Amino acid sequence: MDDGFVYLVGAGPGRADLITVRGAEVLKKADCIIYDKLANPALLRFARADAEIIHVPKRTGGTSVTQEEINKLLLEKASGGRTVVRLKGGDPCIFGRVAEELAVLFEEGIDFEIVPGITAGIAVAAYAGIMLTDREYSSQVVFVTGREAEGKRDSNIDWHLLAKFGGTIVFYMGIGNLSFIAKRLIENGRGADTPAAVIANATFPTQKVVKAALSDISEKCKQHKVEPPAIIIIGAAADSNTQLNWFMKKPLFGKNIVITRDAIGNADFAAKIVRCGGNPVEFTTIRIKPLTETNDFLRTLAKITEYDWIIFTSGNGVTIFFETLRGLGKDARVFGSAKIAAIGNGTAAKLNRFGIKADFVPSVFTGKELGKQLIAYTNLRSKKVLLLRSKIASKELVELLDRAGAEVQDVAVYTAVEEKSECTWLIEEIRKGRIDWLTFASPSSVNAFFEQIRSDLVNSGKVKVASIGPVTSERLKTLSVRIDLTAEDHTLDGLIDAIEQTYRR
Ligand code: SAH
Repeated sequence: MDDGFVYLVGAGPGRADLITVRGAEVLKKADCIIYDKLANPALLRFARADAEIIHVPKRTGGTSVTQEEINKLLLEKASGGRTVVRLKGGDPCIFGRVAEELAVLFEEGIDFEIVPGITAGIAVAAYAGIMLTDREYSSQVVFVTGREAEGKRDSNIDWHLLAKFGGTIVFYMGIGNLSFIAKRLIENGRGADTPAAVIANATFPTQKVVKAALSDISEKCKQHKVEPPAIIIIGAAADSNTQLNWFMKKPLFGKNIVITRDAIGNADFAAKIVRCGGNPVEFTTIRIKPLTETNDFLRTLAKITEYDWIIFTSGNGVTIFFETLRGLGKDARVFGSAKIAAIGNGTAAKLNRFGIKADFVPSVFTGKELGKQLIAYTNLRSKKVLLLRSKIASKELVELLDRAGAEVQDVAVYTAVEEKSECTWLIEEIRKGRIDWLTFASPSSVNAFFEQIRSDLVNSGKVKVASIGPVTSERLKTLSVRIDLTAEDHTLDGLIDAIEQTYRR
């Protein structure tokens, strides 16, 4: 039997884009991915659709049996010539028990590669603006496990040495033992006033930083309800200038923003919100259903070279169109010499991914403006124009093009169907004032959302409403929903920018 290959991959400290390029690369080719509790599941988006995904959350305490199970699993999955990725939080070799996993692979003669990752101790410092080393006050850093600390007879921690250690001490897995750790250090001669910082959930929108003197840090963490995973930093470095905490100073940091698109659209939008420091709260209202198997679509596709202009009015339309083409063994060459228009930058960017540079993008991203500006840009009289878009899109664009003398064909590439998800939790969150914004990026998600959630709750002033553009706002108005903001740039980026602006003012 062919031997497999195992990659031990560091997933990075939290947010998915902090994995290394090499890490992402090997995830893409894995037959099987075995991942830990601390590895961000969002990384599975790199996985092949047919990859086997195994989650192995480790229990605290009594982990030895589980570790054995993992070792066994690794061997089993790597047999038969398969490529296995063992994905672990942070760096696989820092407090990762990787030695045990490597030992079994080595014994069985299975080849492996270790892909390093950004370890939590390094990442928390960056994301809290703390310098672990500094020419003035810290020339050394030590990583210590806080789990060994309490009550373990054969603990390797030399408290006396650690108390005297002049540099920065970084404790992993120590939050449950924090009062004990502080006590031991102080007993062994460390000043009670030594600066300490605890950083929990680092790199996520839920990141917390608590700072206090060593003698008070445990109490303060209790007050602030700090929960694992958290890193404890002890030493002068912990007393950093809070101005350096760039991440938590982002305008959207800690803001809970509900996104109401389809699942795929939500994932895309969520990533943008996270980049701005906000916390995306996903509430799927619709499902995008391709209509590319209809006769109408297939007939159009067969004679697509006859068109002078082909217009895309959404990223969804582009993706579904090109995926259909790919499925038929075709590519962008089916367009022949037709010119291509996109409703906005987002749609144009999607086209770009499929090798198409849009010939025309209006300066304002609505169907109406696209129509008006395209007519001003070129003579459409007797020109054959094809709209590839949603079945439920507004007819305004068609009317404008008609009036300009174009021969318009409006073909549905997809439609949005309502998808009800459980909503009592969201109602509760809004009632408790724990949601900052509700965002809407299409009339269909507005409809679906207010099928489930009453407008008077939304109008109660507990939550703000942001809309991507006039068409979506119009629909909100028909339902008597109070709108706090309509983005001027009608893209998801524009929507987030507009929300951000409200906090900058
Ligand atoms: N191999 C991992 C560490 C595993 S031990 C690495 O290199 O990062 C698990 C500990 O890592 C947690 O108890 C916590 O101390 C730390 N940790 C992991 N992710 C963290 C995060 N996002 N924020 C703060 N600490 C984190």
